[in-house]
Amino acid sequence: MTTLVTDTATTTPDAAPAAFIAAAMDLLGPRGFTTDPDVIGPWLTDWRGRYTGRALGLATPATTAEVASVVQLCARHGVPIVPQGGNSGMCGGATPDDSGHALLINMRRMDAIRRIDATGRQVECEAGVILQTLHEAVERQGLRFPLTLGGKGSATVGGLISTNAGGTQVLRHGSMRAQVLGLEAVLADGSVFNQLVPLKKDNRGFDLKQVFIGSEGTLGIITAATLALEPAVAARAVLWAGVPTVQAARALLLHAQDQAGPALEGFEVIPAHALHAVLDYLPTARAPLEGDHAWHVLIELVADAAAADALPALAETLLVSAFEAGLVADATIAANEAQAEAFWWLRDSVAPAERAKGAAMQHDISVPVDRMADFIDYAAPLMEREFPGTSAVGFGHLGDGNIHFHILAPAGVDGEAWSATAGKAISRRVHDLVTEWGGSISAEHGIGQLKRDELDRLGDPAAMHMLRAVKAALDPRGLLNPGKLV
Ligand code: FAD
Repeated sequence: MTTLVTDTATTTPDAAPAAFIAAAMDLLGPRGFTTDPDVIGPWLTDWRGRYTGRALGLATPATTAEVASVVQLCARHGVPIVPQGGNSGMCGGATPDDSGHALLINMRRMDAIRRIDATGRQVECEAGVILQTLHEAVERQGLRFPLTLGGKGSATVGGLISTNAGGTQVLRHGSMRAQVLGLEAVLADGSVFNQLVPLKKDNRGFDLKQVFIGSEGTLGIITAATLALEPAVAARAVLWAGVPTVQAARALLLHAQDQAGPALEGFEVIPAHALHAVLDYLPTARAPLEGDHAWHVLIELVADAAAADALPALAETLLVSAFEAGLVADATIAANEAQAEAFWWLRDSVAPAERAKGAAMQHDISVPVDRMADFIDYAAPLMEREFPGTSAVGFGHLGDGNIHFHILAPAGVDGEAWSATAGKAISRRVHDLVTEWGGSISAEHGIGQLKRDELDRLGDPAAMHMLRAVKAALDPRGLLNPGKLV
């Protein structure tokens, strides 16, 4: 439980907000602070519409100094802070509770790309930069930022770092943690942690910037970061294969890794019924292969300018050798960029297509990469047996040992009532299974308020003790994003 108010001056509900609000307005001005419910309203509900909260006000600071000042003000008044980026997170992490005591600090105004170093392949940018804007800015310099995801038009650098976001290129480039070379953050007392300058070698104790990555706004407010860049992609080949089992998909993954080496950037699996749902959902879309296949695999190979000419042959060889080894039943290579995009469109539409079909309990889970195919084979029929009428669907990043494991509600049930009753038991069972298999109940989306109790229930006691100890050390009054993660 977080104690919201520690100042005697702020213990009276009416006087405290008034004094705080006046001081915040003084500090940030009308562009940087508002209590207007019409302006704040859209930011009080999370992207999935699961949580709605209230806030004392909305701060939109424009500089690190302003963030530091407003955090100091919150510390003086004992006002909790909810940091927010693009509000595209999946776990309610950026939504305040319904007490109305917290200040929402949205970082979108800090959207400067401060420096692109083409030679050193680095970019220093502020936390409010939107992922798509970052992609476009570095592309203009012949570079790319090698992390993308469906929410790229909204997700910000600060949010991506705070959730250690993944996406479809983790197989080759790692998640957000692997891209962060330097970081700047405002701590709970308003002081500024500045490790923006990347050092290839630095052994002055703990790598402190790491604690902010994946911390979901509970340890500080990220204001800027230095991120790693790659040479621009000069060519890509997108392949679609039909395979009989998820084990065959796993064998194809190993084969593709062997054949394509660093050119292999994406490897996604989709079961047949998920593809059928997508084709129902997108009337203009077409299945890439004729005939029925129990599992579908989407493979992306990429090359920079130096390797671009050899890429078509590499893709061809990969498929021919997979056929010869009996690994694929049928396969095709996208003939052009439009077809490549169409293949990805199918993949990206699995979640909305499912949503259109009815209620589902969604789990963003991982197990060790070499166990994921076994996990799907084991867990999907088990869940369907234990919860009659449901369908279990595992799709996504097989190459990362991370799938979206969705349990679809039985036909005809009231989705909301089902989610609140059977759905809860289903999620507990899935999380228990994942934990037994040595995996994680959150591979990508974080914990937020959605999975806090489950983390508490299933987290390793020593790890939970360490999480809480770090939190207590950096935010002893519990003012940073209370009720989230830990
Ligand atoms: P928000 O939602 O605003 O916040 C997320 C968390 O970070 C909150 O706890 C918040 O308090 C904290 N936070 C935000 N900014 C800061 C800051 N500057 N300092 C400190 N804390 C901060 N995620 C994946 O990992 N992989 C995917 O493939 C993926 N696909 C998606 C597809 C769609 C269509 C959508 C809508 C979302 C998807 N996401 C995915 C989830 C989401 O985009 C990521 O979690 C993203 O990192 C959230 O960024 P944001 O700026 O919107 O953060």
